[in-house]
Amino acid sequence: MHFSDRIQRVEPSATLAISNLAAELEAEGADVVDLSVGEPDFPTPENVVDAGQEAMDAGHTGYTSSNGIAGLREAIAEKLRADGLDHEAENVIVTPGAKQALYETVQTLVDDGDEVVLLDPAWVSYEAMVKLAGGDLTRVDLAPHDFQLEPALDELGDAMSDETELLVVNSPNNPTGAVYSDEALAGVRDLAVEHDVTVVSDEIYQEITYGPEPTSLGTFDGMADRTVTVNGFSKAYSMTGWRLGYFAGPEELISEAGKLHSHSVSCATNFVQHAGIEALRNTDESVDEMVEAFAERREFLLDRLDSEGVAAPEPDGAFYLMMEVAEDDQTWCEDALEEAHVATVPGSAFGAPGYARISYANSKERIGEAVDRLVDADLL
Ligand code: PLP
Repeated sequence: MHFSDRIQRVEPSATLAISNLAAELEAEGADVVDLSVGEPDFPTPENVVDAGQEAMDAGHTGYTSSNGIAGLREAIAEKLRADGLDHEAENVIVTPGAKQALYETVQTLVDDGDEVVLLDPAWVSYEAMVKLAGGDLTRVDLAPHDFQLEPALDELGDAMSDETELLVVNSPNNPTGAVYSDEALAGVRDLAVEHDVTVVSDEIYQEITYGPEPTSLGTFDGMADRTVTVNGFSKAYSMTGWRLGYFAGPEELISEAGKLHSHSVSCATNFVQHAGIEALRNTDESVDEMVEAFAERREFLLDRLDSEGVAAPEPDGAFYLMMEVAEDDQTWCEDALEEAHVATVPGSAFGAPGYARISYANSKERIGEAVDRLVDADLL
């Protein structure tokens, strides 16, 4: 069988590899503390589940219009306007998850040989998506700056040129938890305008922050026509398995991307879209409760690591933290899993060797247990 050059440019997902290994150990009876997962350990809010159930009962199970049902596109546009973005329902495509939104965006914007800039460490799928579109990557390393963008703006300036087609910005960030300052985003704007670059702003962790709220990149002067805002329901509303996300941008982008969307996924699941309206409009309390729980766990984990003398820049958002482990982070993570039965993700999977990503979407008891085990195994 012949496989395309594009698919052969892509590695299997490193996070998936760890999860599979952890599942194998569990199947053998091991008690694994899984700090590798990228999903909130909270149930979907009850009112959202009810809305989905009611929509299913009411027969909302057929195809919808390809870009999404009018009510959800309007609710999303309303939310985006509340964030300061000047979008109508026509500027939105609803997708089965933010991952699909990112995939469609990259496929729509990137040609063979186009240059795409990533800020490292970067979520694992960006690289694969760019490679699948035939693009070439230029990477800017934020690790020497404690994962902040503002002190790395000169390096970003060196990396960007008139040849750059696309820049991907993800704040709050997976895997670092960094939230980029307004000054950093203004710097991104200056470079994007100077070199006429389109920017994808992946804001999927927007609701999960512990300090100043992040500003949406498309609200900066000069960014409205060059920003694709991507968001989704997986993280803020604990809806990972429902598969619901979206992207929003200028109408000409929506028109072009809509072709790929209609020829590939047809539409997002009908009753899930109905539940999405409820999630956007009536979940403030559930989101606040979840973020409060994450905030406590973040404090707890930072204190524990600090008392063990482990360096880890403080995250301001999402539910991840990068801790410095060993030069060979891959081996460290394998040892952590095999010897301590603690699952983490090697930083090198995100372009940050020497670190491990810890997800604190787990109870304080289990997080504490994981730190104890890593200390006992001489891994911390
Ligand atoms: N973007 C980032 C940075 C993520 O971490 C994830 C999921 O882990 C996604 C996008 C995709 O989210 P989903 O497809 O579940 O909406």
